[in-house]
Amino acid sequence: MIGYGSQGEAQALNLRDSGVDVVVGLREGSPSADRARTAGLDVTSVRGAAGSDIVALLIPDEEIVHAFAESVEPVVEEGSTLVLAHGFALRFGGLEIAGGIDVVLVAPMGPGTLLRERYQAGTGLPAAYAVDRDATGRARQTALEYGAAIGCARVGLFETGVAEETEVDLFAEQAVLVGGVIRLIEAAFETLVEAGYDPAVAYMECLYELGLTADLMQRFGVSGMRNRISRTALFGDLTRGGRIIGEETRNGMRQVLEEIRNGRFAEELAADVSSEGRETKQALERARQSLLLRVEEAVAPVVHPGRDEHEPDE
Ligand code: NDP
Ligand code: MG
Repeated sequence: MIGYGSQGEAQALNLRDSGVDVVVGLREGSPSADRARTAGLDVTSVRGAAGSDIVALLIPDEEIVHAFAESVEPVVEEGSTLVLAHGFALRFGGLEIAGGIDVVLVAPMGPGTLLRERYQAGTGLPAAYAVDRDATGRARQTALEYGAAIGCARVGLFETGVAEETEVDLFAEQAVLVGGVIRLIEAAFETLVEAGYDPAVAYMECLYELGLTADLMQRFGVSGMRNRISRTALFGDLTRGGRIIGEETRNGMRQVLEEIRNGRFAEELAADVSSEGRETKQALERARQSLLLRVEEAVAPVVHPGRDEHEPDE
């Protein structure tokens, strides 16, 4: 296991508890070494992980290409398997791996903390898996066994390809999970405030209660969620919901998808990373001035008491 962050820690521990012989390879002076040792894992340098049958490289996507060239390449020997948890470096980063090595993706659908928690509770998180290169004829089998050992086969392993996994993952976070949902909340919140409603009440109704819906959909699907909501909520959903997302939004989604596929998003991200996140910082600063976030600031001590305890999640 190269890297001991959100995914690295959870996957190393799940693999170990599934009976896999795990060694954690960390860069010199790594602040994560103590945590891994305390958990009972063998810790070595990145180079020290050489000789492993499987090398999982679970470090931030924007570090993968550089780290691979710098120190990881010699660790992945002919006949062994490189496991990644996201296809970004392969699809957009130009990551090149010598022939004779199996390259697979096993991408859990959620943060490491949840992957570990569910594993310990006897369940798991689903994962997508893909074979990027099958040099040995065993790559698919290795991906499936790896997915099983981190607990994901307990729920489901969805076969995909590197391009599909990467493009769909980026699109889902931009259109729905982060980009879309925040804008939807914000637009609804501002509509209420503009009509004279109390901002704190609007905040609670539009944002806070979303967790309940999301949780029901994750557990039971849309149909199961609809079975569990009030008659009033169901009627409003069926007769009004379709007016909310119109052609303009769909066209925006098509453009966002196109910019992922043609590499424009990856280029802009790379430019932002190399300018130490200048664009990201400016946009975050502007967002902080919005009414939604100002109201959030006011209610946070009561409503989001754990807000500033950082978890290394997605
Ligand atoms: P993290 O940011 O949590 O990874 C941190 C770890 O990477 C640390 O151990 C850090 O080392 C190590 N690291 C960082 N840079 C380097 C480097 N140049 N050389 C060696 N080690 C380095 O990453 P995540 O776990 O979030 O992501 C890992 C992969 O998993 C990514 O491909 C991501 O897309 C994917 N993924 C992430 C999910 C998530 O929820 N986070 C969900 C699904 C997939 P040190 O300890 O020395 O600081
Ligand atoms: Mg994802």
